Amino acid sequence: MSITSGTIPCTLLPGDGIGPEITAATLRVLDALGSPFQWHECRAGAAAAEELGDPLPQAVLDSIQSTRLALKGPLTTPIGSGYRSVNVRLREAFQLYANLRPGRSLLPEGKFPDVDLVLVRENTGGFYVGVEHFIAIGDDPHAVAEATGILTRENCRRIAEFTFDYALKHGRKKVTVVHKANILKSLTGLFLETVRDVGRSYADNILLEDRIVDNCAMQLVLNPAQFDVILTTNMFGDILSDEIAGLIGGLGLAPGANIGKDVAIFEAVHGSAPDIAGTGKANPSALLLSACLLLEHCGLLEQGQRLRAALVTTLAATDTRTADLGGALTTQEFTDAVIRNLES
Ligand code: NAD
Repeated sequence: MSITSGTIPCTLLPGDGIGPEITAATLRVLDALGSPFQWHECRAGAAAAEELGDPLPQAVLDSIQSTRLALKGPLTTPIGSGYRSVNVRLREAFQLYANLRPGRSLLPEGKFPDVDLVLVRENTGGFYVGVEHFIAIGDDPHAVAEATGILTRENCRRIAEFTFDYALKHGRKKVTVVHKANILKSLTGLFLETVRDVGRSYADNILLEDRIVDNCAMQLVLNPAQFDVILTTNMFGDILSDEIAGLIGGLGLAPGANIGKDVAIFEAVHGSAPDIAGTGKANPSALLLSACLLLEHCGLLEQGQRLRAALVTTLAATDTRTADLGGALTTQEFTDAVIRNLES
């Protein structure tokens, strides 16, 4: 790939379902913003599986290895049988151990207008390591299912350090570690023990508290504003981040970043939404907010702030919203409104 001076090479994976629609919208807005990305577009997911025989072709891995950055649309994962999640494979391939999922109220009339929290999910271990199998009994090949969760102290330490450093850098005051150490005493017990250990070095600046996951899930719907930074394991993070998306108005508003030592991949929390793909109804806000995280990651703070401000203005007005938020705008019309607000 040739690099034009002053540009930032970035791999682009439009993805499946609504992915290409929200990616096109995001590129239009980034262009209007004058962002310096030089896109290296690749195919992954169901489309690549069909056409190239592999949902994660080597060309994608090579591209990300060289750019160290990617903006990614959602990828469809078959349920039950079929290929393994490309998202999980990407996290493993590049050791993207931290999954950052900010949840901020953007709808002034929302049920919870004062949510401003960040969930950090351990992204490589736990029950998502894919160590599972069936045990046959008699003529039933699926008589028993067994899954193993794996976490190492080293993995717990690096995500804890990432989280406390993130909290310090972003002026956050409190980290809540979420676990189930009363039942999963080894797996999440090690997580809790290591986070507490790391937290002691940050105690002068960051308060550390802990919650059992079921209590956290309830507390989130009772009073989400009490949370600042939530740090949790892979599966609990997956579930709680969708819950948080629900509190702030839905999946259409929830951005994410997968961050490792050398590589970072930015994507919306939501999936490929096959039920609305091709209808022009997709809300591109979550991918646009993920693009804000990408801009900030690249040190383009002013552009990130301008984009976020334009989105805040657009979403605040009930007549410039997409259908998932009760509005009437198509993806294209919403994108036009965001671009207008960039300029105002
Ligand atoms: P989903 O997030 O795709 O959709 C859930 C619901 O939210 C649907 O009704 C959908 O229409 C709606 N929705 C989601 N995003 C929206 C948007 N931007 N605008 C408007 N409405 C939106 O979840 P699902 O249906 O459980 O999963 C579909 C596929 O996506 C599955 O194959 C799943 O594995 C995959 N998935 C991928 C990722 C990823 O690539 N990061 C994440 C989650 C799910």
